[in-house]
Amino acid sequence: MVSEALHGWVEQRLRQACQRYTRGRRNLVELLAKAGHPVSIGDIAALAPQLPRSSAYRHLVDLQQAGVVRRVSTNDEFSRFELAEDLTEHHHHHLLCTRCGRVIDVTPTPEFEHAMKKYLAGLARSNGFAADDHRLDVLGACAACQLAGLGELGRRETGGRETGGRETGNGAA
Ligand SMILES: [Zn+2]
Ligand SMILES: [Zn+2]
Repeated sequence: MVSEALHGWVEQRLRQACQRYTRGRRNLVELLAKAGHPVSIGDIAALAPQLPRSSAYRHLVDLQQAGVVRRVSTNDEFSRFELAEDLTEHHHHHLLCTRCGRVIDVTPTPEFEHAMKKYLAGLARSNGFAADDHRLDVLGACAACQLAGLGELGRRETGGRETGGRETGNGAA
């Protein structure tokens, strides 16, 4: 269930950007709110097959410019989109897999957030900067990609050791 309040806020924000809250944009906001995690253009195509990818992309760019949507990405190939944090009121961070593009939402403990805010505010202040908010995305490999990678590495290492062993053996004999 997507709240009417959310649509009200989105409409207001679009109006500030001199944009209208069209049916297409509304459907996309609805989709993002229901998904509850960052979605790719491919995910959107799967969730809303009737919506052409080009239209979905155009709506996302407009919504991003109006500050309704935020792009989450490791690179252009893996762009994903989510509703702006101040609309969902769910402050969180991301673990981004640079191998497959997977994005995992993570919510640190209040203690972590408190310590980080304090530290970042200090850093900002010492540069004459007033901090409002922060973003932190952790880049790396997801569990599935690590497994796939370790499999390859394991095979290579075993192969290397076996070859080495035989060579040493032959040399000694
Ligand atoms: Zn991955
Ligand atoms: Zn945070």
